[in-house]
Amino acid sequence: MIALVAGAIIGIIANITVAGNEVAKEFLNSLINTVAHPVGQIFLRMLFIVVVPLVFASLASGVAGLGDLSKLGKIGGRTLLFFLTTSTFAAIVGITLLEVVRPGDGFDPAAREMLMKSYASQATEIQSKTGDVVATGTLAVVNQILDMFIPRNITKAITEMQMIPLIVFSLLLGAALTKIAGDKRDAMLKWLDAWTESMITIVGFAMKLAPYAVFCLIFGVTARFGLDLLQKLGIFVFLILFGYATVLFIFYPFLLKILTKRNPIEFMRNASPIMITAFSLSSSNGTLPTTIRVSETALGIRPKIASFVLPLGATMNMNGTALFEGAVVLFIAQVFGIELSIMQQILVVALCVISAVGVAGIPGASLPLLMIVMAQVGVPPDGLAIILGVDRILDMGRTVINVMGDVVCAAYINEVEEKV
Ligand code: ASP
Repeated sequence: MIALVAGAIIGIIANITVAGNEVAKEFLNSLINTVAHPVGQIFLRMLFIVVVPLVFASLASGVAGLGDLSKLGKIGGRTLLFFLTTSTFAAIVGITLLEVVRPGDGFDPAAREMLMKSYASQATEIQSKTGDVVATGTLAVVNQILDMFIPRNITKAITEMQMIPLIVFSLLLGAALTKIAGDKRDAMLKWLDAWTESMITIVGFAMKLAPYAVFCLIFGVTARFGLDLLQKLGIFVFLILFGYATVLFIFYPFLLKILTKRNPIEFMRNASPIMITAFSLSSSNGTLPTTIRVSETALGIRPKIASFVLPLGATMNMNGTALFEGAVVLFIAQVFGIELSIMQQILVVALCVISAVGVAGIPGASLPLLMIVMAQVGVPPDGLAIILGVDRILDMGRTVINVMGDVVCAAYINEVEEKV
C-alpha cells in the first residue's frame, strides 16, 4: 500500500516537473523503460507464468476431490447465477450514474475534436480487433461459441492463454479421475497437488517483489499520464471511480454480510494484497495466482472452492468491466447528442453483461467488445477515442472490481456448500 501511494505521488511529481521540457521528458521516459518497466514486468511475468499450470492442477484435483459430479453441477449453477446477477447490477450502476449526472451533455466540441484526433489511430487499431471477435452467419457464430469452450487443440488454446478451454479440459480431467481405479487416481491427485503447491510457492516468491514492482508499475503509469486529460474528462472519470467505489465498499460488503457470516471490513482488509495486485497489473488473469493464494490462506476459502470459482470468475465474471462499458456507451452517446431510449439502455445492460463474459482478463481487453456494443445501439464506435487517454486508470480500477467480485462469490459458495 505504501509503495502504491508513493509510486503514484512520485510519478505525478515527475510528470509535472518534466512538463514542457523535452530533454527531461526523454530522460524520464528512458528511466521508466530501463528501470521501472523491467522491475514491474518481472513481477507480472512471474505471476503470469504460473497461471496455466496452477489453473490446470488445482481445478482438476479440486473436481476429482469432490468425488460426486452432481455436486459440481450445483456449485457451477450457483456460481454462474451469482456472476450474472452481480454483473447486471454493476452495469445498471454505471448506466444510472451517467444518466443522472449526464456529464457528456454540453461537452466542449473543441475538446471532443482534439481527443478524437489524438487517439484516432489507437481507436482504429482497437477497431481492427473487433473483426476477430464477431463472426457473421449462424454456422460461424455456432463454431465460434464451440471454439470458445471446446477447441480441437488444447495446446494451441493454452499457448494463446485462452482460459475457458483450459477450464473445460481441467474439469473433464477431474471428472474422469473420479471414474478410474482408486490407486491410479490417488497417484494422479498427489502429482496434481504437488504441482498446485509448487505454483503457489512461486507466487510467494513473486509477492516478495511486490512492493518494488507495484511502486514501479504505478510510477510508470502516473509519470506518463496525461494530467490535462483528467481535467477535461474529470467528471466522467470521477463518476466511474465513484461507481467502482459503490460496488466495492457498499455492494460487496452488503453481499458478504447477508450471504456469509463474515465481517466485511476484516474480509476487505485481508483481501488487500489481491486488490493491490489487480490495481497494479490491470489483469484478472495475471492476478489469479495471487487471488487463489490469498483466498486460501488469508480468507479461509477451501481450496476445492477457490480452485473452481476463482479461475472461472477471472474469465467470466467482470463486474467492473460491465459497469465501465455501460457508463462509456452513455457518455459517448451524450457527447454526440444521441438520446438512448429506456429500451436501448436495457439492451446496453444486457450487451454489457454478455460482452463482459467474453472479455479476456488482460489489460484493455474490453475495448474491442465495447466498440461492438456501441455500434449495436447506434453510438459511433470511433467515439471511444475520447476516453482512451484515461483508460489505463479506469482499467486499473475495474480490474479490482472484477477480481473482488470473484472473491466475494468464492466466499459465498464456501459458505453455502459447507460439505464440500
Ligand atoms: N483489464 C480487465 C481485467 O483483466 C479487463 C478489461 O475490462 O479490460 O479484468
